[in-house]
Amino acid sequence: MHRFCYFAIYALLTLPAALRAGSTASEGDYLIALYEHLHEHPELSFQEQETSARIALELERAGFQVTTGVGGYGVVAVLENGTGPVLMLRSDMDALPVREQTGLPYASTVVATQDDGNEVPVMHACGHDVHMTVLVGTARALAASRDTWHGTLVLVAQPAEERGAGARLMLADGLFKRFPRPDYNLALHASAELPAGSIGYTRGYAMANVDSVDINIRGIGGHGAYPHKTRDPVVLAAELILQLQTIVSREISPLESAVITVGSIHGGSKHNIIGDSVKLQLTVRSYSDETRDYLLRRIREISIGLARTAGLPEELLPEVRVKDEYTPSVYNDPLLTDKAAAVLKSEFGEQNVREVPPVMAGEDFARYGRTQPPVPSLLFWLGTVDPERYSVATEEGENLPGLHSPLFKPLPAPAIETGVRAFTALVRSLLAAASS
Ligand SMILES: [Zn+2]
Ligand SMILES: [Zn+2]
Repeated sequence: MHRFCYFAIYALLTLPAALRAGSTASEGDYLIALYEHLHEHPELSFQEQETSARIALELERAGFQVTTGVGGYGVVAVLENGTGPVLMLRSDMDALPVREQTGLPYASTVVATQDDGNEVPVMHACGHDVHMTVLVGTARALAASRDTWHGTLVLVAQPAEERGAGARLMLADGLFKRFPRPDYNLALHASAELPAGSIGYTRGYAMANVDSVDINIRGIGGHGAYPHKTRDPVVLAAELILQLQTIVSREISPLESAVITVGSIHGGSKHNIIGDSVKLQLTVRSYSDETRDYLLRRIREISIGLARTAGLPEELLPEVRVKDEYTPSVYNDPLLTDKAAAVLKSEFGEQNVREVPPVMAGEDFARYGRTQPPVPSLLFWLGTVDPERYSVATEEGENLPGLHSPLFKPLPAPAIETGVRAFTALVRSLLAAASS
C-alpha cells in the first residue's frame, strides 16, 4: 500500500524529467520490475550465472552486440554509433553472504553454497542490483536516442567485485583487446549516506588500496606452568598487534591516510597450555602505492624482527602472506571529474550534486583505469536513501544502515531514475564534443 502511494506520487513528480530523458512512465515500471527481480534473486561472487544471463538478454534487447563469459560470468555489450570516443560504463553483479532483514515484499530469501561448502543467506546488500538496473536503463535510453551522441559505448557487467577479482579476470580475458579500448571509464556506486535524487563525487583518490594480510606466528609450545621452556606465541602476538599500530601513528605522515586493523586473532586451546601458533588476519588500507608498499614492508619486517627478539629460530619465524584479493585505490581523474560534475550540476541542480570526502572502502573498478596506458576514470556516488528518512536521520544524528548491512534498503525508483539520467547526460556530453 505504502509503495503504491509512493509510486503514484513519484510518477507525478518526475514526469517532466522522464520526458526530458526520452523515457516514459512505463519505462520506469520496466526498470523497477527488473530491479525487484534482481534484488529477489541475488547470487554470490563467482556464481552470477542467472544474473549475467538476464543482463545479457536485457542489453541484447536494447540493441547492443553482447558477448558473455568474459572473465567468468562477465558480460560485454557494445554499441557503435558513428565516429567518436569510446566510453565504458561498468556495473558489478555480485551479492553478499548477508541475511536480509529489510522486510521488503521483494526481500531475498535465497540461500547459496559458498566455496567452503557452507550454506549462507544471500542479499544484494551493496546495491549492485541498483547498478545493473541503471546500466540497463541507460542502454535502453541511449539506444533509443542515437542522434544525441556519437561514438562507441562499451557496457560491462562485471562479476566478483566483492572478492576484488572480477575486473582483473575480465582484463586478463582481453576486455581491452577483444573489445574497443575505452577513452573514458565511468561507474557509479550506491550510497547509503546520500538521499535518492542526489549525487556525490570525489576528485582524485576516492577509495582505498585494500589488502588482506595473514600472519601465522609460530612459537614453541609447552605447559602453562613452565613458560621458561617455551616460546609463547600469544605474548608475541600481543606485542606484535601493539607494535603494528605504531606504523600508522609513528611512521606515516599525519597528512597521509592509512589503516592497519587486526580483525581476527586465533590461538591456543586451553588455560594451561602454551600453544605453538597464533593466526592474525589484517586489513591494510592506503591511497598511494608508495604508502601501500611501505605498510606491507613494515608489517613483514616488524613481524620477523619481534619473533627474532623473542628468541625464535629462523625456521619458526612468522609467515606473512599478502592475499591476492587486493583492490587498488580508485583515483578519479581530476579533469574528467570536473567536467562530469559540471554536467551533473546542470542536469540536477547544484544542490543535488555535492563533493564528498574520500573513503577507505575498496572497489576493483580502479583496475580499469590503471591499465597501460591509463584510462581516465570516474566512479561517483548515487544517493539511495529515502529522502524523508534521510532528513529525520540527519536531524536526530542517527546512523543510517550502511552498505553491507542486512537493513540496507535503497529507495529504487528515484535512485534508478537519477542514475540513468546521470549516465545518459554524461555519455551525451562526453560523446558529443569530439564527434565528427
Ligand atoms: Zn560491497
Ligand atoms: Zn559494491
